[in-house]
Amino acid sequence: MTKKIALITGAGQGIGAGIAYQLADDGFVVSLAGRHLEKVQKVADEINGKGGEAFAIEADVQYRAQIFEAVEKTVEHFGQLDVFVNNAGIAHVAPIVDTTEEDFARLLDINVKGTMYGIQAAAKQFKKQKTPGKIINASSIAGHEGFELLGAYSATKFAIRALTQAAAKELAQDKITVNAYCPGIVLTPMWDEIDAAMSKLHDVPLGASLKQYVDGIALGRGEEPADVANLVSFLASDKANYITGQAILVDGGIKYV
Ligand code: NAD
Repeated sequence: MTKKIALITGAGQGIGAGIAYQLADDGFVVSLAGRHLEKVQKVADEINGKGGEAFAIEADVQYRAQIFEAVEKTVEHFGQLDVFVNNAGIAHVAPIVDTTEEDFARLLDINVKGTMYGIQAAAKQFKKQKTPGKIINASSIAGHEGFELLGAYSATKFAIRALTQAAAKELAQDKITVNAYCPGIVLTPMWDEIDAAMSKLHDVPLGASLKQYVDGIALGRGEEPADVANLVSFLASDKANYITGQAILVDGGIKYV
C-alpha cells in the first residue's frame, strides 16, 4: 500500500468537506464520515469523479460505537488508517445564563465526547497496526478565549485542547501525534447559523454580526474552508512529524498567543 488513508468526520460540508478535497489533492485516500449519508456521499462522488479515491460512511460522532464502526469500515475498505481528523462539531449561541441543560449536553456530546471517542478509535487502530498515526482535532479561536454568547461552545473547544495535549503525551511512545487546528471566522453554514442567532439576540439585520467579526480580522477577509484545509494538509503530512500536542491558530489575525 503506497497511498495513505485519512478519515474525516463531519465531511459533508464546510471545513470538513474542504479538508476532504485538500487531502484527496495531496494524494490521500479519504474516508468521509457524517450524520447524513447523502451529504458525505456527494463530496465522495466529487472526489471520485476527479480521479481521487473516497468512501462515504454514515456515522454520528456522539455515539462511540458509530465512530469505532467508521474506523472498522475504513480499514475493511482501504486496508488501514493513517490519519484521523476529528472535525465534526456544532455551535450554539446563547448567553450562559440562558443555556439549557439540553443544549449544553448536546454540545458536550458532539464536540467533547465525539472528539474523545475519535481519539480512542484512531489510537486503538494505529496501535493494532503498529504504525505511526496522526490525530487532528478541531478546536477554535473559541478554544483560546471564551466568546460572549458562545460560552458553552467555547468550553467544548477548550476541552478539545486539553484532550489534544493529554493524548499527545500518552501516545507519543507509539509514534502517534495529536494536534488541533484553531480556525477563526470561517464562512460555512455554521457561521450562517451563528450570525442568524446573534443578529436576533442583538436585534440587528442578518449579516451584521458576521460583518462585525470579519471587520476585526487583520488580513481583511473572512476565512475559507481551504485556509483551514491548508493547515490540516501540513499537519497530516510527514513535514509535521515532529509536532505534537499543539493547537495552532489559523484565523487571519484575530488571536495572538
Ligand atoms: P458546519 O456546521 O458547516 O459543518 C459541520 C459538519 O459536521 C456538518 O456536515 C454536520 O452535519 C457535521 N456534524 C455535526 N454533528 C455531527 C455529528 N454528531 N456526527 C457527525 N457529523 C456531525 O461547521 P464548520 O464550520 O464546517 O465547522 C467544522 C468544525 O470546525 C467544527 O468542529 C467547528 O466547531 C470548527 N470551527 C468552525 C469555525 C467556523 O468559523 N466555522 C471556527 C472554528 C472552529
